[in-house]
Amino acid sequence: METVSALVRHNHFFIGGQWVAPSGTGRISIVSPNTGQTIGDVPDAEPADVDAAVAAARDAFDDPQGWAHWSADQRADAMERLADEIDARSHEIAHLVSSQNGMPISTATALEGVFPAAVLRYYASLARSQPAEEIRPGLLGGTTLVRRVPVGVVGAIVPWNYPQTLASFKIAPALASGCTLVVKPSPETVLDDYVFAQAVEAAGLPAGVINIIPGGRDAGRSLVEHAGVDKIAFTGSTAAGREIAATCGQLLRPVTLELGGKSAAILLDDVDLDASMENLYGATLLNNGQTCFAGTRVLAPRSRYAEIVDAFAQMMGHLPVGDSLDESTLIGPMATEAQRARVESYVARGRADGARVVTGGGRPEALDRGWFVEPTLLADVDNTAVVSREEIFGPVLVAIPYGDLDEAVSIANDSDYGLGGSVWTADHAQGVDVARRIRTGTIGVNGYLPDPTAPFGGLKASGLGRELGPEGLSAYQSAQSIYL
Ligand code: NAD
Repeated sequence: METVSALVRHNHFFIGGQWVAPSGTGRISIVSPNTGQTIGDVPDAEPADVDAAVAAARDAFDDPQGWAHWSADQRADAMERLADEIDARSHEIAHLVSSQNGMPISTATALEGVFPAAVLRYYASLARSQPAEEIRPGLLGGTTLVRRVPVGVVGAIVPWNYPQTLASFKIAPALASGCTLVVKPSPETVLDDYVFAQAVEAAGLPAGVINIIPGGRDAGRSLVEHAGVDKIAFTGSTAAGREIAATCGQLLRPVTLELGGKSAAILLDDVDLDASMENLYGATLLNNGQTCFAGTRVLAPRSRYAEIVDAFAQMMGHLPVGDSLDESTLIGPMATEAQRARVESYVARGRADGARVVTGGGRPEALDRGWFVEPTLLADVDNTAVVSREEIFGPVLVAIPYGDLDEAVSIANDSDYGLGGSVWTADHAQGVDVARRIRTGTIGVNGYLPDPTAPFGGLKASGLGRELGPEGLSAYQSAQSIYL
């Protein structure tokens, strides 16, 4: 098991292709969720730093010979170089992410170490194949030259749970479209961004195309409101998303929002539990349950409710809980002490509302430091309970019984959110039929793993717009019609 032994300290921001000193003296401390000890220390961006980063992105975008005017092939070449540089650092990136947010290292290696380069290569290939212009014959005699033009300077605001992957969902289509970016990572996970910035430097991207300013909420707000920004791409909580949407509405600034979720894992009455349990762990508890699409409402047919609750209790009770950097860990700590307090308050609320705690419910006895909670299964509540309606963002599942299929669909759809979900059945065709009836942006059958080629995003309180796939590219382009 590797550990972060020395304090990682950085004193600059990556702005305009240079390592620039911060304008103020504020610092961000990064605390290990495994130990509670400080493992990193970086400058905290202030409004003047946001100004500098936006100015650099603006200059890079407005340069008449610059990135926005490169051919798609030139941009794709640079993106592929960046993907190679990220690959060369993937071990370091996965290790830093796991150290900062408690993601099990096996998950960090498989996702944070793989997705960003894959997403960059995918959008590089789309950039090469998508025509930038087309001539459309008109209905009224003339023709129109329809152009896809980059939307401009993008402010990308990212959460801590999958920091590199979720940043890449924004950076890759923005670069492919010819946009430039200011990326604001979450203060909990910033050390990985310094490695990403080194990759940008090594790949030789033109100065100012990607600028990175670690900072908190206020830096995020400054970016959202900034007059030099043309579009905001945000992933994070629904509460912050609403505030950002209101600001962007006032400014008439395009915005995409990937927000929270309370998805359902619907087990049909023919489900093969033995065959499904490994994938059910991924669909419900990935990254310690700190996953927006996690299917945290387990819907079980009444006829098999006791058996399914028991199977989940067995699975959850035996998951290795421990230091996120241990290869055998499947449940690491919560990312922050505050996040653990939030999870524990929901477990208490579940108990108070009459839920049965089938397994877990406390802190693991063997772990005397770090922000750990036991994987917890709550049963015998219905879909109206607070723990069934609100996003907990931890390893806490709620098992809800249903009568027939119509009731299962109706419970799944009875949510303020609409992000993910999954259907589990021995009958694949029936699984797809049920999936078609669920009002969410994404859903899996006998598994759940977003793919770069397919649009990802939510309905209702889960967000606006889509990332990934060709749909995710169009979010960074606007159309210009030249009538001929
Ligand atoms: P958060 O909303 O507190 O913060 C997310 C990011 O936004 C951070 O960088 C933060 O500094 C910044 N921020 C916060 N308030 C802001 C504001 N008013 N203006 C501008 N920037 C602001 O969320 P979090 O706790 O870091 O992340 C967890 C949340 O993210 C969960 O609700 C989860 O479901 C959601 N999430 C959604 C997806 C998705 O794709 N739908 C993916 C991952 C996480």
